[in-house]
Amino acid sequence: MTRSEPAPMRVAESASEYELVLTVAASTTFIVTIDGPAGTGKSTVAHRLAKRLGLEFLDTGAMYRAAALAALERGIDPADGPRVAELVRGMELHFDWTSDPPELYADGVAVGERIRTPEVTRAVTPVASNPLVRAAMVHAQRAIAHRHRRLVTEGRDQGSVVFPDADVRIYLDAKPEVRARRRVDQLRTKGIETTEAEVLAQIMERDRMDESRKDGPLVRPHGADIVDTSFIDIDDVIDRLEAVVRSRAGARLAEGRAASKSGGSRP
Ligand code: C5P
Repeated sequence: MTRSEPAPMRVAESASEYELVLTVAASTTFIVTIDGPAGTGKSTVAHRLAKRLGLEFLDTGAMYRAAALAALERGIDPADGPRVAELVRGMELHFDWTSDPPELYADGVAVGERIRTPEVTRAVTPVASNPLVRAAMVHAQRAIAHRHRRLVTEGRDQGSVVFPDADVRIYLDAKPEVRARRRVDQLRTKGIETTEAEVLAQIMERDRMDESRKDGPLVRPHGADIVDTSFIDIDDVIDRLEAVVRSRAGARLAEGRAASKSGGSRP
């Protein structure tokens, strides 16, 4: 992975936001995980929350998508476990942390929008179910967090498997019908026409596969704050998440202060 530039700190828009940015900035490490199924607005929300808090942003779905794209481009069947695992072992994935959001490169080439096509979306499910691929990705994600210690990371297993001790663990959810409608709108902006029924069927199938795989299944991480985004717009979702981080960050800092006090008073 490349060396990073620190994320530029955004100027806070209100006194209370400024105070939260300062609180988070006071910690040398601060990890917020956001997990949840497709169509909950996770990526947008995670990216905007990261900016609001002056943290960096990691899109782990992009990493699995890059692996699926590489398999398709080389004519490897995404369900061929050993060949896909070998491919991923030899792949060099890195983010350019100077762009916003960080741009993903696979073997030196920016993957861009090629990882967002319906073909890649179909191919990513078997790739992400491959235990060897997951092990490589978990390892890579922890290595990233080692260098980028102040991070909002989003995916399916971030709070449950990759960073179970994260400062804040959030699970975003929404009704399948709402998620399908959002996906249709998203695809339409890219010029891809499809029906809500078709997208709903795909989403339900992807959820089922994500939830039922043995390794790193999509689950609500233990102790996570669950936020349902079905009936609230994106600005309200960000405000809610900020409130969650505010209460958790305050609790963490208080715990830290208490621990250092009791440590200090030990004989
Ligand atoms: O979030 P996104 O739709 O880009 O993720 C693509 C796919 O990658 C998901 O459907 C899921 O199967 C897989 N994934 C995963 N674990 C993650 C992130 C994504 O299995 N941490």
